[in-house]
Amino acid sequence: MIMKGESGQEEQKEFLIRSWSDSGLIKDTRLINAFRSVQREHFVTKDYLKEAYADYPLPIHAEQTISQPTTVMIMLQALELSENDKVLDIGAGSGYNAALISKIARKVISIEIVPELAAYAKGNLKKARIRNVKVVLGDGSKGYGKEAPYDKIIVTAACPSIPEPLIGQLKENGIMIAPIGDFYGQKMIKGVKKRSKLESVELGDFSFVPLKGEYGYDRG
Ligand code: SAH
Repeated sequence: MIMKGESGQEEQKEFLIRSWSDSGLIKDTRLINAFRSVQREHFVTKDYLKEAYADYPLPIHAEQTISQPTTVMIMLQALELSENDKVLDIGAGSGYNAALISKIARKVISIEIVPELAAYAKGNLKKARIRNVKVVLGDGSKGYGKEAPYDKIIVTAACPSIPEPLIGQLKENGIMIAPIGDFYGQKMIKGVKKRSKLESVELGDFSFVPLKGEYGYDRG
């Protein structure tokens, strides 16, 4: 793909926005505004700067990836964010997903299990001058009880099943989005908590890096 530096990136960013609105895939204007206002350039490594708005995942560090923009937007639209929300974001990675959420929600707790990436996310969010995201180093498959309950929970790594502790940390009527499946492919699940149980629907097929930790693939 041939791109011409800065202006090419801006064009690509607008191209994505146009494709989402033309296809009707992303209708949430606050989300589009969030996408416009966060510079994705802050959340990709130097080697991939020119591909900051390419619609595929990019390598970050520790064999992990920043998800492709369209996937991020589909998940965040399903999360139905509102301005009073306290959101738990599991798998901070580059910090980009947390950055988008932070433009709409009140507070974001973003948890990451790889120390190098927790530091990377923190640094990127600082560069982007985002202050309502708290990056926590830890096993997000267990959630983060200290700040619970949450209005919304989003998992950006493949889960073998819905990690049980997350349901407990979600408010009644709260929404959870997570890819559930095996290493090779997952169904995106949208769950709404009703009478302490999660009522789920499927949003389609996706492919994520595996969730580690106690309720991820490290179990047993
Ligand atoms: N949301 C990220 C990309 C997610 S990639 C972004 O916007 O860039 C998945 C991330 O989940 C990786 O960074 C991986 O290290 C992290 N991860 C995997 N298992 C985890 C766990 N149990 N707790 C927290 N983070 C985890």
